[in-house]
Parts: sequence; structure tokens; C-alpha cells
Amino acid sequence: MVKLNQKEYKDLFKKAEEIKQKLGLTEKVNLLTEKSKYMNGVATVLNNVKLSKPLLKLYKTENEHVLYFMLAHEIIHIRYQDSGWNRLMWGLTSIYSNRSRALILLMEMRANFMANAMLGLSDEEIDEVQRLIHCYNQNTTGKDSYKYGYPDRYKIAHYSKQYSSFSEELMWDLLLDFCEVMKVGNKGFIEDVIRTFKDKCHFNER
Ligand SMILES: [Zn+2]
Repeated sequence: MVKLNQKEYKDLFKKAEEIKQKLGLTEKVNLLTEKSKYMNGVATVLNNVKLSKPLLKLYKTENEHVLYFMLAHEIIHIRYQDSGWNRLMWGLTSIYSNRSRALILLMEMRANFMANAMLGLSDEEIDEVQRLIHCYNQNTTGKDSYKYGYPDRYKIAHYSKQYSSFSEELMWDLLLDFCEVMKVGNKGFIEDVIRTFKDKCHFNER
């Protein structure tokens, strides 16, 4: 794991500052990188954002917005403390229960949704970003993706284009699809997940 050089990635650091400002996040965020086969980002404890080497290769290319999307996504996780205790708590109470998956799904979609909005991506760019990551990483789709609590990249694009804000309506829509694909749940399940998300996952903080 290596710290990114601020001089070498000047505009990336600038973008991180812009994103932090929009989120009202005053804490320092560290930008790091590490080798990986995949284009991915991770937000960890101590406000570290790791952006994989293949992702950094997009800096100053025509696909730069893919890198910025991932950067924004991870900083949003830090802002809402999605990556630390919250996730651990769901994991500890019930690893890979559908309830944990559904809560992770909402956290992930919030980060995706807000990242798109924050960067002002057009519908076409939203499609491009998700398609590029999907193809490079050979991501799974549908149920195989939901098993880890992640919406697949086509769903991310679909819901991001359809809604203008990360609203309760969007959460219902997402969770209805989740329940159908995973063959679980009912109205009570969804109500419980949304209630928990609102109570514990900083939904009302903007
Ligand atoms: Zn994420």
C-alpha cells in the first residue's frame, strides 16, 4: 500500500477536496494505492481511500471520470461511516443474512447515486462508467452480485438514471427487486431494512 504523490496526481487531490467540501467533510482523507487485477476502490478505517493501480491508469485519459466516480464513491462511504463499524455490526450480527445484504445494498447505492450526482455525470456517462468497470473486472450480475449485497453494474446505471434523488421511493424500488431476485422477504422485511437504514446509517444527514 503506497501513498499517492500529491504532485503527480494534483488534479485527483483537487477533486477529492471538492468532493469533501460538497459533503461537508472536514477530516483529512488519505489517498493510497495498491496493486490489483481489478479497477476498484476501498474506504477503510482511519479515512484511507485506496484506489487500485488499474484505476489510476485512467488519470488524464478520456476515461478519467471512471476514476473520479470511484474516488467520490469511497469518500461518500467515509462521510457516512459505511465502511467501519456499521458494516462490521451487520456482519457480526448475521454474516450474509439477507438483512445484512439489503443494508449493504442501500449503502452502496447511496454512494453510487451521490457520486454520479456530485460529478454531474450525464446518463451516457453513467452508462459508460458502469460498463467500463463491469467489463474490466468481469463483475457478476443479478443474484450472484446480490449475494454480497452489491447491486450489479447494470442495475446501478438503471436506478441512477431513473431517480433524481436517493429517496425512500428509490429504496423501496431497489429492495423490491432484491426480494424478487433473492426470493426472500415481504413488505415487513423491506420496512424493517429501511427503518434500520434511517436509524443507523445516517440517512437524514445531508
Ligand atoms: Zn462501495
